[in-house]
Amino acid sequence: MTVRAILSLKGKDCVTIAPEATLAEAARLLSEKRIGAAVVIGPGQRVAGILSERDIVRALSKHAAGALAQTVASAMTREVVTCTADETIPSLMQRMTAGRFRHVPVVEHGRLAGIVSIGDVVKHRIEEVERESQALKEYIATA
Ligand code: AMP
Repeated sequence: MTVRAILSLKGKDCVTIAPEATLAEAARLLSEKRIGAAVVIGPGQRVAGILSERDIVRALSKHAAGALAQTVASAMTREVVTCTADETIPSLMQRMTAGRFRHVPVVEHGRLAGIVSIGDVVKHRIEEVERESQALKEYIATA
C-alpha cells in the first residue's frame, strides 16, 4: 500500500499559510481547521517550510505572548521532509518515527499534492490489520 491509498480517501486538500502571517493567525488557522500543522507556501507556490503546533509552543516558551506577533517564517522548519504518492506506508511510518515529526507534505511534479499525518497513517494501518484479521477468520471458518 502506498501514500496514494491514503490520499484517495482523504483527498489532496492541504491547509497552507504564508511566511508573512503571524503566529497568532497561524494558531487561529490550526484551531479552526482542527489540524496540527500547515505547509508554508512562499513565492512561486514553492514549499518554504512547515509550521506545527509544536513550533508555536516553542516560540511561546521563548518569547511569551510577544511570540504571537512574530512571523510564521521566524518559527517554521525550513528543511521539509516530503514524500511522493508512490512511497509505501511502512516506509513513510519509519521516516516519521525516525524524524520525530507527525506531518509529511506530499509533493508531485514539484507541486503540493496533499499532506499525510501520523493520524492518517495509524488509521490506515488499523483498517489494514482489521481486514487481515477478518480474512483470517473467514479462512478458518471455511477450512
Ligand atoms: P509535528 O510532530 O509534525 O507537530 O512537528 C514537530 C517538529 O517537526 C516541528 O518543529 C515541525 O516544524 C517539524 N516538522 C513537522 N513536519 C515536518 C516535516 N515533514 N519535515 C520537517 N520537519 C517537520
